[in-house]
Order: sequence, then C-alpha cells, then structure tokens
Amino acid sequence: PIILGIETSCDETAAALVDGERRILSHALWSQIEAHALYGGVVPEIAARAHVDHLDHLIRKALLDAEMKLADVDAIAATAGPGLIGGVMVGVVTAKALAFGANKPFIAINHLEGHALSPRLCADIAFPYLLLLISGGHCQLLIVDGVGAYERLGSTIDDAAGEAFDKTAKLLGLGYPGGPAIEQAALKGEVTLKGEIGRFSLPRPLTDQPGCNFSFSGLKTAIRRCAERLESEQGGLYERDINDLAAATQAAIGDCLINRTDHAISRYLDSRGPKAPTLVVAGGVAANATLRSRLETLAQGRGLSFMAPPPWLCTDNGAMIAWAGLERFLLGQNDGLAAPARPRWPLDETAPPLYGTGQ
Ligand code: ATP
Ligand code: MG
Ligand code: FE
Repeated sequence: PIILGIETSCDETAAALVDGERRILSHALWSQIEAHALYGGVVPEIAARAHVDHLDHLIRKALLDAEMKLADVDAIAATAGPGLIGGVMVGVVTAKALAFGANKPFIAINHLEGHALSPRLCADIAFPYLLLLISGGHCQLLIVDGVGAYERLGSTIDDAAGEAFDKTAKLLGLGYPGGPAIEQAALKGEVTLKGEIGRFSLPRPLTDQPGCNFSFSGLKTAIRRCAERLESEQGGLYERDINDLAAATQAAIGDCLINRTDHAISRYLDSRGPKAPTLVVAGGVAANATLRSRLETLAQGRGLSFMAPPPWLCTDNGAMIAWAGLERFLLGQNDGLAAPARPRWPLDETAPPLYGTGQ
C-alpha cells in the first residue's frame, strides 16, 4: 500500500508518501524557522497561518515527485495531536477533505507515535523495543510493545530535553531552534563530562535517584546563574564562554539521558526477562551526533543493539506520519471524518488499532 502522511503539529509543514516496502517515495517539507526566529520561539498563530499557506502545495509536490495521483494512494494519514491546535486542525481538515474527495480512509496519527515508530521505517526493528523519545515537547522512556501499545517507564517532570536546549540557547543568544545551535557551539567549547572538573559545573537532576524520570528545569537556572556571574565579572559573555556553556549544557543533558536510559534498560531486563531489546532513540533531539554516539556506547556496553533514524527523520517530517499511517492501515484502521484534533494526547493513551472498519 501507499500512504500519504501530513504533519502540521508545530513549525514544520510536511507531506510525504511511503509504501509497504519501507520506501519513502517522496517527502516535501517547509520549515517555518524564519517566521518564528524573530520571536525566539514558535508563535502558534503564525504557525497555523503558515500551515494554511504551505500545506496544499507541499502535498501537490509530494504527489508530483512520486509521479502519483491521489487516486494511487491507499489512505491519508495526518497528525491529529498532540500539538498546537491551530496547526493540527489545518492538517486534519485537509487530510479529511482529501480522504472524502478521493474516497480513501483517513487515519488520525498521534505525533508521538510518528516519532516512536519511525525506526521501523528505517529498518526491520521487531517489537518490543526500548524507546528514548526526546523532542521539543516530550522526554520519555517507553517500551514499545506494538502499534498503539506503549508502556511508559518514565518521563520529564518539568521541561523536555529539546526545551532545555531551546531555553539555554535563547539565554546564550544562540537563537532558535536551540538544539542545532548548541550542538554547533559545543563543538568549539570545552567538553565537561561527568566526573571531570570543567569550567562550569552544572547539576545532573535526578541522576542520584532510582527510576526513569527526567528533570531539566534546574539545569536552565544553573546556566542562567553561570551567565549572570560572567556578565557581572567581565561585563558580558565572550564567544568562548558561550561555546563552553553550550558544551557544558550538552554534556549535562547527555549525562541525564544516559543515566535514565541505563535505569530503563535495567527495568526492562528485570520485568521482561533476559533477552536484550533494541535501544531506539527518536525525536528532534536524537538528531544530535554527540548524544547519538553516547547512547550507542551505552547500548553496546549493556549488550543491546542500537538504532536511531537519520537526523532528518528525527525532527518533524511527513514520512514518519505516513509510516505510522501505514502500520495502522495494515491493521485495518479507518478513523472516518469524525475523528477529532487533540491538543493533548499522551502516547500511552493511544488506542491499539482494534476497531478498524477497513475499506
Ligand atoms: P514534540 O515532538 O514533542 O511534539 P516537536 O515536534 O516540536 O515536539 P521535534 O521536531 O521532534 O519537536 O524536535 C524539535 C526539538 O529538537 C527542538 O527542541 C530542537 O531544539 C531539538 N533539536 C533539533 N536538532 C537538535 C540537535 N542537533 N541537538 C539537540 N537538539 C536538537
Ligand atoms: Mg519543529
Ligand atoms: Fe515532533
């Protein structure tokens, strides 16, 4: 089957076609970064309008690039939440209109499930696997037992990992989005790994405690204090300071992710028996090369195989939504035109697709 996937939940407008052979037939994406950069973060109203402006031509481009017509598509999937509700509604309404017009099933996709299943678009990863989901709005460890079947081992009690990158970047004047900016600056900074006395010592919240929850808000406060101290001592921040603080931030976030994931591996092995799962990392923060390689090292050390989608499939895109749509299409799901757009939609409340009516 061939599925059209539509993503509009945040600041990327995207459409893509995938098929059952894991082929990405086309993918079109419009990033709204420039529209929001001026404000240092995503402005929901601007985002919703930009989705209206760009979605139609991106869908047309996705079809054109794959040399297909809407009639060749077997189902239309769109992110139906969680996310900025204005944008989500643009995607859902557009997808429903296309589904109605072409008489195809409409499949409502949880954006987080798009991230969670994206590794299966890249490789034949069997259920269950252990997932570290690190994105702009979420930070969770989950066991993925199947489509719609998620056991959450832990999540952030305050900020998401991507949020920590974004807020630190804003504080350091590195602009938006923060993750890529911090990663670049950190390359030039002094790396401060745990145990080493670096120029800045930042906290690693919760890492001295059991469990798999995360906390990043203390980190942000500590970085603000470091920056304020330098400003009062030197009258400002030099480029070297910014690079070192970026490196220290990335190292601290990395230590938290490693520690919590290590606990999750133990939890998995304790509760599911000795067969090691694949450790999968997904979501925008998983685009970070240093974090990927640190997590891979952790997995290898504990005898797990490791998988992270290529960086462009970690940040928001249409292909992951099309893929989640394909998985659900194969299970017979058709949500029909009454399916709601949901601003909030926890992944572990996503229903397994047992109610499909098929078509
Ligand atoms: P969610 O998926 O939780 O709804 P979102 O869709 O806005 O949130 P994503 O697009 O998955 O989030 O990821 C965006 C986040 O990833 C941003 O916070 C961004 O700073 C972060 N990010 C992107 N690239 C990198 C990178 N190279 N290093 C670290 N963080 C990154
Ligand atoms: Mg984004
Ligand atoms: Fe996302």
